[in-house]
Amino acid sequence: MSVIGIDFGNESCYVAAARSGGIETLANDYSLRATPSVVAFDGKKRIIGVAAKNQQVTNMKNTVSGFKRLLGRKFNDPHVQHELTSIPARVEARGDGSIGFKVNYLEEDQHFSPEQLTAMLFTKLKETSAAAMQTQVNDCVIACPIFFTNAERRALLDAAQIAGLNVLRLLNETTATALAYGFYKNDLFEEKPKNVIFIDFGHSALQVSACSFTKGKLKMLASTWDQIGGRDFDLAVAEFFAKEFQERYKINAKTNARANLRLLTEIEKLKKQMSANSTKLPLNIECFLEDIDVSSSMQRSQMEELCAPVLQRVEQTFKRLLAESKLQLDDIHSVEIVGGSSRIPSVKQLIEQVFNKPASTTLNQDEAVSRGAALQCA
Ligand code: ATP
Ligand code: MG
Repeated sequence: MSVIGIDFGNESCYVAAARSGGIETLANDYSLRATPSVVAFDGKKRIIGVAAKNQQVTNMKNTVSGFKRLLGRKFNDPHVQHELTSIPARVEARGDGSIGFKVNYLEEDQHFSPEQLTAMLFTKLKETSAAAMQTQVNDCVIACPIFFTNAERRALLDAAQIAGLNVLRLLNETTATALAYGFYKNDLFEEKPKNVIFIDFGHSALQVSACSFTKGKLKMLASTWDQIGGRDFDLAVAEFFAKEFQERYKINAKTNARANLRLLTEIEKLKKQMSANSTKLPLNIECFLEDIDVSSSMQRSQMEELCAPVLQRVEQTFKRLLAESKLQLDDIHSVEIVGGSSRIPSVKQLIEQVFNKPASTTLNQDEAVSRGAALQCA
């Protein structure tokens, strides 16, 4: 029997386990390491992960994503209301004020809570890990954002329980990252402390921490965060293209949920290409709305302009961490980056500006959190 470490991301999940002396990130039923945090219902079938994401555009009403940030909260919570503006599924308040995702399943309308949806996702992770390791999986360590409240943590534990997972520990994502780093670096055993900054920039959050390693012991000096992530870049760019298409083609992408989702999907792809490329890149969507094909382009500098307010908040978060950690720039050994959005070049530039060190990629940017969680129980 094996213990797994789970990184439950707002966009995707990773699972790792200690195996034959090392830590391994496990592949799912599509031979992929990332399992999208998406659950869908189709007639009598429940579809989870890669397959769910693949059919989202054609089954929008019964496909649910973005539920991580709704755990343990009531429908009327302003945070929930804000989250709902970017969730395409149907979400309603239940009689007791809780959140219900409305889907058609087993030929009737049903409501599922964020906890139940998370449990379905966890069940899938449990099954795919058991298949990958060819052994039963019951125990796990789950990583959660450092800013999760007690209610959010309790909801996560409830979800794990519904999925039949025994949670040995909930671990902050920031701590998981630091543990993953400590495991691979063998120069951290010196008398003199080594101070390392960890930056996790994901889909929905930016979490930054300062840690000190002395003789292999890890001490958290400071942590800070902001509720911004990759999706905020996508939204800023989507706003721009929606306006352009309105002017050029007289179509309003925002009035159509499917068009909006397709636009955001294409923009996310474009954004990733822009991370590697500074030239102008095309954006083409066939039969976007009213049978009209749309085409446009964008280059990195333009995206940076559109996303200036997000980048400003990134910079402020970095500066806050530096101040709270009380570290001098010379005291910092390295700045390690994880999370998909840390690949954005202007984020790396800000790291260099604020911390006077280039962003370092010692860790696997996608898998570090799950690996740290797996290490905690190894
Ligand atoms: P969270 O930590 O907020 O719960 P998550 O763990 O699911 O979310 P990650 O998987 O770390 O998030 O990152 C996903 C985000 O990173 C997405 O917004 C995605 O568009 C973005 N991303 C991934 N690769 C790149 C890239 N090459 N360039 C720019 N952004 C990228
Ligand atoms: Mg994450």
